[in-house]
Amino acid sequence: MAWRQPEIKRTKTVCTYCGVGCSFEMWTRDRHILKVQPVVEAPVNGISTCIKGKFAWDFVNSDKRLTTPLIREGGKFREASWDEALDLVASRLMKDRARYGPNAIGFIGSSKASNEEAYLTQKIARLIIGTNNVDNSSRYCQNPATKGLFRTVGYGGDAGTLADIEKADLVVLVGSNLAENHPVFASRIKAAKKLRGQKLIVVDPRKHEMAERADIFMRPKVSTDTIWASAFSRYMFEHGYADLDFLGDKVNQVDEFRRSLEPFTMEHASRMTDIPLHVLTDAAEMIGQAESVCLLWAMGITQHSHGADTSTALSNLLLVTGNYGRPGTGGYPMRGHNNVQGASDFGCLKNMYPGYEKVTDEAAREKWAKAWGVDKESLSAEIGSGNFTMVQDADTEKIRAMYIIGEETAFSDSHSQDVHTGFEKLEFLVVQDLFLSRTAQFADVVLPGCPSVEKEGTFVNTERRIQRFYEVMPPLGNSRPDWRILTELAKRMGYDWGYEHPSQIMDEVAGIAEIFKGVSYARLEGWKSQCWPVHEDGTDTPLLYTDGFKTDDGKAILYPVAWTEPDEAADDEYDLMLDNGRMLEHFQGTNQTGRSPGIDEQLPNWFVEISPELAREHAIGDGTWVRITSRRGSVEVPALVTDRVHGKVLFMPIHQGKPGLNLLTGEHHDPIVNTPAFKETAVKLEVLARP
Ligand code: SF4
Repeated sequence: MAWRQPEIKRTKTVCTYCGVGCSFEMWTRDRHILKVQPVVEAPVNGISTCIKGKFAWDFVNSDKRLTTPLIREGGKFREASWDEALDLVASRLMKDRARYGPNAIGFIGSSKASNEEAYLTQKIARLIIGTNNVDNSSRYCQNPATKGLFRTVGYGGDAGTLADIEKADLVVLVGSNLAENHPVFASRIKAAKKLRGQKLIVVDPRKHEMAERADIFMRPKVSTDTIWASAFSRYMFEHGYADLDFLGDKVNQVDEFRRSLEPFTMEHASRMTDIPLHVLTDAAEMIGQAESVCLLWAMGITQHSHGADTSTALSNLLLVTGNYGRPGTGGYPMRGHNNVQGASDFGCLKNMYPGYEKVTDEAAREKWAKAWGVDKESLSAEIGSGNFTMVQDADTEKIRAMYIIGEETAFSDSHSQDVHTGFEKLEFLVVQDLFLSRTAQFADVVLPGCPSVEKEGTFVNTERRIQRFYEVMPPLGNSRPDWRILTELAKRMGYDWGYEHPSQIMDEVAGIAEIFKGVSYARLEGWKSQCWPVHEDGTDTPLLYTDGFKTDDGKAILYPVAWTEPDEAADDEYDLMLDNGRMLEHFQGTNQTGRSPGIDEQLPNWFVEISPELAREHAIGDGTWVRITSRRGSVEVPALVTDRVHGKVLFMPIHQGKPGLNLLTGEHHDPIVNTPAFKETAVKLEVLARP
């Protein structure tokens, strides 16, 4: 087939879906994607991919892609030139700033866009508008985990690499459906178990694939994870498993923490969690006896009204048992979006500059102001609003204008009805996206951005690994790379930064943010990668905490937490709890995966999983239509009877419906980080029609 070769281009790219960060070659002829070819050089996945990374690329050439800017006029969108659209956005943002003040404007950066684009988003918010109202979708998922790590060990990222997790004697997987959400990495855990005898404990209300493979499976009552985790810490002290040398040398507040464990006996934990005492004891013994333990967690922990405290309790347990700073140890929040880690790392956070430097730290503010060529007073020292709060503030008209990049807030935020009301009250909404998404339909101006394969940039995966991706094909139609749109917009607001290539943006960040000092496009060329923090000479840090913790004195902190009742629980009327999560085939609101017929036909309809015992009680079979009603709204879906769920817990995928699941979820949230408690939704069920 040599005659075909000259036409085929092979370009390295990084997957646009989950936080594993698989990289591969994309084979193209013109705009046709011929195949996705994983290669051994890929640092995370080698020769593996999952269904999404391999096949879910039809969205790139979809005829539904936005290819020209749109401006709303008389209630309808009309096409506009880039000049007209950008002039309008620049002038409206500056006018709203002058009229209502900088804090009346909010920015939501994209967890799918590049690090460089995240950096420019927060630079516009902070430097040009003068607000710290800038955030990303980590507010909806892993912010509580990051808070737990900040409190205890100091860095807002995974303790080591995925290769480190493979080395552990024991993996504890809590509230994470790894096989569907991080499939390539789950395969490595399955292999470590089979080939090396690695032990696996799974804690989850739902019996997903990894639970079926576990040595011990614990099914706690919803929102009781702080209790068993704290009881395990107490057990370690009482049964000789606490690493007293490690605690003595490397950890502060040990005595105070130990006193805080007084209420957390194993008997109490068993009563509160509904996990049999012998199962709890077996799991605690397995953790205590293991030489090295990695603890992985995700949204089954974080999307609760006290997710930050539970994340803290999990990290505390690792500290008590000396499981930080060695290969095969540490805490690993498993990041969802491909660049949700990078969006936070590069400053789309209401309280942090890029590199997790606090906006309230005078020295940091002075440094960033100097680097950006302004006085310190030009940058706000006031912590801004996160995206959950911004949307609520839109409803009370405290926020008057928003700029949302690549986020499907109208679908993904909890309590959709309130989100939609807030959007309708905004005086000006800009949405930058690939499609006329559910969120874009509320916009005044829509700007067509580009997917990763139509631009260059870098992403950070869940293990803090920075990787380059290259332009596979040019932008479709009149769409533009997001970094170019933001650069052009800034110019119209008086800031001509002159970026001609994203490498210049990365060079700027590396010159300012401590943890990116040695990052450069040259050092990331091809299949090379770097795990932050990266020193000036280019050496990176795959494993954190080998030389102490990221705290003032280098010692970790055992941070006492109490258990608090969830904000919403089942009662006599709403007697069931609704769990929810992703499925293997799709991603979020299916704006991308839903454009691939081959993917869509694998999971064409949505459903609610119902336990066999509940199905018997209500005479429900597969396909029976049921109405699920919460205190906020109702949805009607067919039932799927399965023992993946048990008792009075239901499960619904997050992907389908218009807007679906979030008609049911509420506004209650973790008060520390403002993450909605998606997993605490009490519902009732009615049977509508049997098949
Ligand atoms: Fe993409 Fe994640 Fe699948 Fe890898 S595991 S191919 S990063 S979706």
